[in-house]
Amino acid sequence: MTASGDLWRNWGRTEAVRPVRVERPATAGAVQRAVTAAAASGLRVKPVGAGHSFTGIAVAPDVQLDLGDLTGVIDADVATGRVTLAAGTRLHQLPALLAPYGLALPNMGDIDRQTIAGATSTGTHGTGLGFGGLATQIVAAKLVTASGELLTVSETERPELLPAVRVGLGALGVLVEVTLQLVPRFVLQAVERPEPFGLVVDEWLDRVHAHDHFEFYWFPHTDTALTKTNTRLPADAPRAPLGRVSRWVDDELVANGLFGVACAALTVAPRLTPHLAWLTDKLSGTRDFTDFSPSVFTSARRVRFREMEYAIPLEAVPDAVRDVRALIERKGWHITFPIEVRAAASDDNWLSTAHGRDTGYVAVHRYHREDPREYFAAVEEIMRGLGGRPHWGKMHTQTAETLRDVYPRFDDFLRVRDELDPERRFANAYLDRVLGGVTTDAAATESADAA
Ligand SMILES: Cc1cc2nc3c(=O)[nH]c(=O)nc-3n(C[C@H](O)[C@H](O)[C@H](O)COP(=O)(O)OP(=O)(O)OC[C@H]3O[C@@H](n4cnc5c(N)ncnc54)[C@H](O)[C@@H]3O)c2cc1C
Repeated sequence: MTASGDLWRNWGRTEAVRPVRVERPATAGAVQRAVTAAAASGLRVKPVGAGHSFTGIAVAPDVQLDLGDLTGVIDADVATGRVTLAAGTRLHQLPALLAPYGLALPNMGDIDRQTIAGATSTGTHGTGLGFGGLATQIVAAKLVTASGELLTVSETERPELLPAVRVGLGALGVLVEVTLQLVPRFVLQAVERPEPFGLVVDEWLDRVHAHDHFEFYWFPHTDTALTKTNTRLPADAPRAPLGRVSRWVDDELVANGLFGVACAALTVAPRLTPHLAWLTDKLSGTRDFTDFSPSVFTSARRVRFREMEYAIPLEAVPDAVRDVRALIERKGWHITFPIEVRAAASDDNWLSTAHGRDTGYVAVHRYHREDPREYFAAVEEIMRGLGGRPHWGKMHTQTAETLRDVYPRFDDFLRVRDELDPERRFANAYLDRVLGGVTTDAAATESADAA
């Protein structure tokens, strides 16, 4: 079934497009037919997840594939902990889908709105030095390539492609299934504390090594860092979840409701930003609770913002954060949103932001009605000076030339792209910028053959 004409916008309201047509394939076969039909008409194809990337990575000018009908568990093996999911499955569906098997994702980011294919394709991650990003859990995948072929990539079939396909930026084909290595369901004990900025930054390395999941938020114009320290416990550990009322007051009324109203007001009166301290004090309150992992890892984000996040060597985090603080103070900017700092284990996926090194993540945000460019550009310069790699789904200004310098396997990824999508059926303007267009030998040969 096809539709057309609707305006698509991403969550951060940084991108908008009216695709030539939208298709909602409900089977792998229907995805194959959609790709083949698009190729026959000379149209490009782009699967879209939940539209939660801030970059134009999911923009589909020609044929947009909405995989909202391609969800659920396809296969599950409790003994090995491996579960195959349809690519459009949303992370928030997982607790219910995985409950019968007693399994869970080992780690998660801040929210659960994304699709599994969309989240892994951009290298989505949480925090915890013992854990890689979500894509590191992928042990097999099925994707429809530009020729319309259904390709299986696993530990036994084309295994050499796994490090490319796991974080594929949507550039290699349309994922229809991913098989994840999961872990037994577990409980997290959460401790949230306001602490002095200097102390937290000084102790960064010790804390990320000492705790399962450590992160902190620093609120500009204050000396307060909100630390979040989560400890893993077995599934049968006693739970003390946040009460429904206190979760609503903290997460909805304060973190989303009051904060949203304050951000909107400060857009017209930015000089009052430092007075937001009363609210940030409330946001940085002390909380202790224990619950199943998805309820602790994720929360709702209803105040729209724009974000840039850089992955830097783990040890560079304290200097990087101090430099960002000095920058904000020097420039006199009024920044309402906190800076978020996390960690992840090194992995071997070619375009993973944590490729080959234990990684610290520094994320900056601005309310969606404020212009983020000057702030983000200055922070980007600091991060680039530290060998930083931008999150593929968050705003940045890097190009294929500059990204090649920080990704040792960049050209290997391009070779796989040449094999699976020689004519750039899955390209868009963002991918042209970060990966380059049809410039390689393989694609040139392909075009010559076609001509
Ligand atoms: C409020 C908010 C909080 C966030 N928190 C975090 C966080 O804690 N950690 C973090 O790392 N990131 C975070 N992000 C970023 C987000 O996780 C990524 O941008 C993620 O890629 C979004 O997933 P999505 O399903 O919306 O995919 P989309 O943004 O829709 O698409 C992303 C990419 O995946 C591709 N894609 C989608 N489906 C398929 C498919 N079936 N086959 C092949 N390619 C496909 C798209 O073409 C595109 O290239 C956050 C974003 C927001 C808005």
